[in-house]
Amino acid sequence: MSTVSAPPKSLMKPMVFPQKLMMGPGPSNCPPRVLNACAMPILGHLHPEFTQIMDEVKEGVKYMFQTKNEWTVCVSGTGHAAMETACCNLLESGETTLVCCNGLWGERFSDMALRNGAVVKRIERPMGEVFTLGEIEEGLRKYCPSVLFITHGESSGSTLQPLEGIGALCHKYNCLLLVDSVAACGGVPMYMDKWEIDVLYTGSQKVLSAPPGASPISFSPKAKAKVQGRKTKIRSWYFDMNELANYWGCDDGPRRYHHTGPINCVYALREGLARLAEEGLEKSWANHRHCVEELWEGIEKMGLQLLVKDKANRLPCVTGVKVPNGVNWKEVSDYAMKNHRVEISGGLGQQAGKIWRIGIMGYNATPDNVRRVLRALDDALKFTRGQAS
Ligand code: PMP
Repeated sequence: MSTVSAPPKSLMKPMVFPQKLMMGPGPSNCPPRVLNACAMPILGHLHPEFTQIMDEVKEGVKYMFQTKNEWTVCVSGTGHAAMETACCNLLESGETTLVCCNGLWGERFSDMALRNGAVVKRIERPMGEVFTLGEIEEGLRKYCPSVLFITHGESSGSTLQPLEGIGALCHKYNCLLLVDSVAACGGVPMYMDKWEIDVLYTGSQKVLSAPPGASPISFSPKAKAKVQGRKTKIRSWYFDMNELANYWGCDDGPRRYHHTGPINCVYALREGLARLAEEGLEKSWANHRHCVEELWEGIEKMGLQLLVKDKANRLPCVTGVKVPNGVNWKEVSDYAMKNHRVEISGGLGQQAGKIWRIGIMGYNATPDNVRRVLRALDDALKFTRGQAS
């Protein structure tokens, strides 16, 4: 009799990978070039060929962010890992952070900041609305925070927060500006240095169309000075920027072993960034705009309403569509997946059950895909309404 338990039967059969068109808020489909990069041979995490690839990734991130910041790296982990990195490096226990909360991401950051011992103050808008400079200035004056958090592309409320002017305001009040651009960067204009953003992060599985697993983040000289001047130790060992900056070759010292980077995710991210560089940022921004205009027009032609009324505040990467009365959002979404193999996602938080979210990002941002998602939505709606009558 064997002393070990039986091997799992589930591992004795092949995995199943249906082809799906991922038109939700992410992940988006990866092009073959990116997927092929994942299958390349493993290199050591400190081998010169790999550190060369890391340097190319850094150059790509600097281009995508439009920054010259030395402290530009990728965190091993998804967007939340980059958010945790920003949070635990910038905030010391007892410091105040002002969180602009108009959806899920402000909520998440508030939670992380509390876990790091910070005092959390908030200004709030309903999902689907953005903040004005006046509201932000009032918050800065009232709470004197050391860090202000704001979400560029609020994927839960489908809003695009205008960022110009916020950095200068924050600096006037001796506060650092932290921006989450996981669901926007690469698809809409971003000028980290010109807009005086102190910490900016994004994800790999949205506009970059790479697998989740390595997330770009950059710290301005002011943010770097704040981290280096801390009175207390950074609470996370894994996300300590002093260590990550060394591993990513951002200081003068030789690279030390900190942790084993997600090697193949970094290859894939390098290819995602190369695609963006080859296309050019301005072309990418224009293409996302062009595709989403067609989506918005098609949705309105179907008699549906968009969550964000003011076009200027709509996020091109993720569109919120109101679910009409009497329609079950999930039946529509399930129908689109089953019959068209197209992903259409539902809402989160206050908007759960009330909206669908349609993503147009990176490799998926083509007029053909816009037409496919419109057809799937139209067909699914007709079917569920037919069932109901
Ligand atoms: N911020 C925003 C705006 C996002 O849309 C997401 C992902 N939906 C995240 C943060 C978190 O990223 P991840 O799921 O990759 O951890």
